[in-house]
Amino acid sequence: MEMEKLVSLCKRRGFLFQSSEIYGGINGFWDYGPLGVELKRNVKEAWWRDMVTGHDDLSVADGAPETHSMVGLDCAIIMHPQVWKVSGHYDLFHDYMIDCRQSNKRYRHDQVLGRWVKRGDQRAFVTSMAGESVEDDLQQKALKLFRLRAKNVDELSWDGPVASLTTVDDFSQVLGPDAKELGTLTEPREFNLMYETHTGAMRDEKSKVFLRPETAQGIFVNFKNVLDSTRLKIPFGIAQIGKSFRNEITPRNFTFRSREFEQMEIEFFCHPDSSADWYKYWRDRRFRWYTDLGLAGERLRLRDHDPSELSHYSTGTADIEYAFPFFAEGEYGELEGVAHRGDFDLRSHSEGKLDPNTNPLEVEKDEHGQPRWRGSGKDLSYRDEVNNEKYIPHVIEPSAGADRATLAFLCEAYTEDEAPDDKGNMKTRTVLKLHPRLAPIKAAVFPLVKKDGMPEVAKQIYRDLKPHMNVFYDQKGAIGRRYRRQDEAGTPYCITVDGQTLEDETVTIRDRDSLEQWRVKVDEVVVEIQGRLSQ
Ligand code: ATP
Repeated sequence: MEMEKLVSLCKRRGFLFQSSEIYGGINGFWDYGPLGVELKRNVKEAWWRDMVTGHDDLSVADGAPETHSMVGLDCAIIMHPQVWKVSGHYDLFHDYMIDCRQSNKRYRHDQVLGRWVKRGDQRAFVTSMAGESVEDDLQQKALKLFRLRAKNVDELSWDGPVASLTTVDDFSQVLGPDAKELGTLTEPREFNLMYETHTGAMRDEKSKVFLRPETAQGIFVNFKNVLDSTRLKIPFGIAQIGKSFRNEITPRNFTFRSREFEQMEIEFFCHPDSSADWYKYWRDRRFRWYTDLGLAGERLRLRDHDPSELSHYSTGTADIEYAFPFFAEGEYGELEGVAHRGDFDLRSHSEGKLDPNTNPLEVEKDEHGQPRWRGSGKDLSYRDEVNNEKYIPHVIEPSAGADRATLAFLCEAYTEDEAPDDKGNMKTRTVLKLHPRLAPIKAAVFPLVKKDGMPEVAKQIYRDLKPHMNVFYDQKGAIGRRYRRQDEAGTPYCITVDGQTLEDETVTIRDRDSLEQWRVKVDEVVVEIQGRLSQ
């Protein structure tokens, strides 16, 4: 599937718009249109239902090590600045960026890809940000750099595979992605990804706060509140869906890397002795969630991190990844990370005591000159009254992005096939084969023609379905065109009232994917559609 086709469908049919488009847009921000908002809500609702409200506290389901509870939380986006010091985001949450002195463009160091190329005794590392067509782009750039025509491409000799710019130490031989000559890139510089703002009337260091870059910290700092206000016993999980903000250096690939996005995160608290089992459980269960909702093909994979990639406190991390069409062949993008975080977070938020008179933004250094951040001083351990044991729980964190999941479902659903048009000629049809749970509109109702009492019957069916699902009524234009509009919106079923309806009180139902049509009694339509949607 070509990404341009999906992007254009998203705009044309109201799934996604560039934010502030009439003012030329703003990079890294997106708006969901009438169909997009329904799709994304359905993704989030499926997650919330499957992880929280639909969870059965009483049985051991899905291969879980034991019974457990799941509850939700909705925390503020702006939190006490100390939270971000203790979590490490203030000091460590940065990317390296490089600037190009010639094009004035800025890139994330690890995202620039390039390859060494030679012509005679000249050598250069040519680079690109072209994603899926990176190799073609590199060739064009090398030809231009060495002033060669396409027919002399044999004069270029490539040295090694396409590699990240992070593999290159000396930038003097690097051709920047948008540069015309070598050596225009600056050295990498640190760039903190947190958005800053201020609270209150004074805009000074003391009033500085941050927009959260993840929802997880709100859960950790409320661990004790949840424990004290419920009768939860470990093991249990706390889930949260909400906006997060990261000032990404190079937002790109549609909504994949945005500056404002939504996360769906769980912090699962368990006994240290069983945390390895819980980690395996969550890793597999979260992978299954995507396959159950339609990402069943080979484009989805579960990748266990190499031990060298793990944080010091983690004994296991796995990414659930999808081969988005805008990536180069064989490249995957993260949909969700499932991490075993040990007791790192609760311990950090607990340890030490913050002196109420210190400005949390004043950096306190340890003997190595490293900032030393102290926790709240509150005891965030757990007391198991049955075994009379006190411990700091271990945490398993499945952390997903609602926008990336939505985008993956759209990419996977986008299909072109052949279907007969109004005259019976086979024509290419664009269809979004979304899982019925995710489809923005569940059913559409059409009168075949706008007369003979057909609209009245169709409107009544529409009203009967409305309390149960999102349903759409359309009486304009040729019937084939109406079907195709619904195919593009991903609507699983179309219901048509025609001449025969008036004789025998039946209507046709058309299946989006198989194009099969069958007749059902008017008063059985609701049960029929509900039954099929819940299959
Ligand atoms: P990446 O390496 O792609 O920047 P990450 O490892 O920093 O992602 P996490 O911090 O683990 O991401 O965040 C958890 C999830 O939040 C990711 O799996 C992703 O689905 C989502 N997410 C993170 N950053 C963004 C972003 N800039 N735009 C959209 N979704 C994001």
